Amino acid sequence: MRYLLALDQGTTSSRAIAFDERGRVAAVAQREFTQHFPQPGWVEHDAAEIWATQWAVARECMQKLAAAQAGQAQSAIEIVAIGITNQRETTVLWDRATGEPVARAIVWQDRRTTARCEALRHQGKAGLIQRKTGLVLDAYFSATKLEWLLDQTPGARARAEAGELAFGTVDSWLIWNLTGGPCGGVHATDPSNASRTLLMNLHTLDWDDELLRLFHIPRAVLPRIVPSSGVLGETAPGVLGEAPIPIAGVAGDQQAATFGQACFAPGMAKNTYGTGCFMLMNTGSVPVASRNRLLTTVGWQGPTAEWGARTAYCLEGSVFMAGATVQWLRDGLQMIRSAPEVEALAASVENSGDVFLVPAFAGLGAPDWDGRARGTLVGLTRGTTRAHIARAALEAIALQSADLFGAMSRDSGIALTELRVDGGASRNDLLMQLQADLAGVPVVRPRVTETTALGAAYLAGLATGVWAGGADIAEQWAMDRRFEPRLPEPARRQRIARWREAVDRARGWARDDVA
Ligand code: ADP
Repeated sequence: MRYLLALDQGTTSSRAIAFDERGRVAAVAQREFTQHFPQPGWVEHDAAEIWATQWAVARECMQKLAAAQAGQAQSAIEIVAIGITNQRETTVLWDRATGEPVARAIVWQDRRTTARCEALRHQGKAGLIQRKTGLVLDAYFSATKLEWLLDQTPGARARAEAGELAFGTVDSWLIWNLTGGPCGGVHATDPSNASRTLLMNLHTLDWDDELLRLFHIPRAVLPRIVPSSGVLGETAPGVLGEAPIPIAGVAGDQQAATFGQACFAPGMAKNTYGTGCFMLMNTGSVPVASRNRLLTTVGWQGPTAEWGARTAYCLEGSVFMAGATVQWLRDGLQMIRSAPEVEALAASVENSGDVFLVPAFAGLGAPDWDGRARGTLVGLTRGTTRAHIARAALEAIALQSADLFGAMSRDSGIALTELRVDGGASRNDLLMQLQADLAGVPVVRPRVTETTALGAAYLAGLATGVWAGGADIAEQWAMDRRFEPRLPEPARRQRIARWREAVDRARGWARDDVA
């Protein structure tokens, strides 16, 4: 039996999933690892622990696969290739000779370089950066994190310039370790990850000298950018058994999920409902510059040009508080005991009674980008019950995503025909129906919701001949349920307009002079 091993290195856990040739999950292993919060606004990971947990789950997954196969007639197991998907933007800097990280990795959530980004904005660099990278100038992305590590770690800058240190996002760190580390490890990344660093030019798909100068990054630390689907190296003997396994797929987690949802054609989009929401839309071979403050990013670089172009670009928007709003109902308000309970509570009323919850607990992301917005509950009357608030919470998740959906449609000029969904909260049928109603588009949930790992497996399998092309994969994508929009268009527009009024009331609330 032939399998693909997907390594899914997330923000809180490392996972490994083996998929069979039909895209079905055959074995899973998962381990959490330590989160370090050394100061307010700082978030760090120990890169050595990331590698140790990722390696351990890969071994465990292979052992589970072997155990499951033992005793069956066809017991020979072949891992055809490895695909990697990872938390994005998190920045690792390590010593090429010893393989030791020179400091803890700075995680994407870390805000320590906010002042540096503000200084660059005051120098008028935001426009240049948006044109070249498709991103907004923000501490979220890797460049200022790497600059910080080079400046704040004693001796690091000189050693980096001498070629002794290597930088990578988590994909590069895993690839390097899998392929032998200090003994000939491959130092590489793919364009989907590189497009989140603020250092890659979205149009040339190469590191950009002007950006490197701006962020004071020596070229000598950078990995090579290789296609997302293609054999870039193989595991060193002894790392995952003696037989070498090709590493043939790499993509950042949200792009991998878009690939795993088989959104191959321009105009296809997916939304992931986890802690936050991440919506990505394939815009084809052309990077579309957003006029609505979305991000432009590389989706993936495929093995062939069969979908019109080898490189697919995406528009991306995110909602900070999605499933986390439900967690707040559970933990903050203690209104429900578990997240799934929210569905029955919200369904116990016909509508929210014109109550809106704007979950701007941590400000608002795209398209509003207001760091001073705060959570707001408006429209309360004596008749308001916790059921109305629960319903307003689910509507808020759907309304924020509808805003992203609208911005994407306007930016791309494409009328999207459906929205594919995944993530923990996509199991909520009421939420999915509200989404279809409020975005005015059919919402489609696949049977396999492990789309992130699946996307990495697909990228690897395409490069190694397990699947001949996108059509083979698109065929495997199977629907669980489709939610048709039922709200008439005038009513939908009215709901959105009312929501925008509520958002206006939430904006600009936080002030420096109020504790
Ligand atoms: P992440 O990968 O961000 O940790 P998951 O995809 O595991 O997120 O989804 C977990 C999130 O989804 C949590 O925030 C939880 O509150 C929310 N969630 C889980 N089940 C439901 C449900 N049935 N209805 C609404 N929200 C849910």
